[in-house]
Parts: sequence; structure tokens; C-alpha cells
Amino acid sequence: MLQFFTLASLPSALVPFFIMSQLLRLLIILAGVWLVIHFVRRALSRRRRPSVPGGGTESIARMLRCERCGIYVPESEAITFRGKVYCSETHRREDTS
Ligand SMILES: [Zn+2]
Repeated sequence: MLQFFTLASLPSALVPFFIMSQLLRLLIILAGVWLVIHFVRRALSRRRRPSVPGGGTESIARMLRCERCGIYVPESEAITFRGKVYCSETHRREDTS
């Protein structure tokens, strides 16, 4: 037979302890919820961060091969001249002159 304790059935001397234990339980639950939210948010921000310096698809630049030396340079640094790609102005001049 299960006994359910309510405030009315408790001796009056125990009521403050009952309320305190209920409050304590509520605090523990709230702390648990807060911890879960905290860890989820931290995990999400940690997962987002590494993609910024190098891993993300946006940061991967298209590599182009120099006509002169064969080195691969990012598209933004490559020099295109008459449909040919060069790593530097020097190699463009050497190849075209
Ligand atoms: Zn080159």
C-alpha cells in the first residue's frame, strides 16, 4: 500500500521541512535543466567554431595551377593572362615574353 504525503496529512512541525525538501528538489531540477542547456549551447558553439578558420566549405578557395612553374595558387592570388594562369607577375612575364 502506497502512502501519499500531502501538506494536510503531515504533522505541522514537519511542514517547513517538507516545503524545503520540495524547494530543494525544484532547485536541483532547475540546476539540471540549466546544466543541460549550458552544455548543449557550448557543444553547438564548439561545433560551429572550427569551420571558421579552415574547415568550412566557404573558406576552401579554388586552386589554380601556374602555367610556368606548376605550383597551385588560390584563385584570389592567381594572375590570369590571355586565358592562362600564373602564380605571380614574374612568371606571367617570363612565360609571355
Ligand atoms: Zn609560377
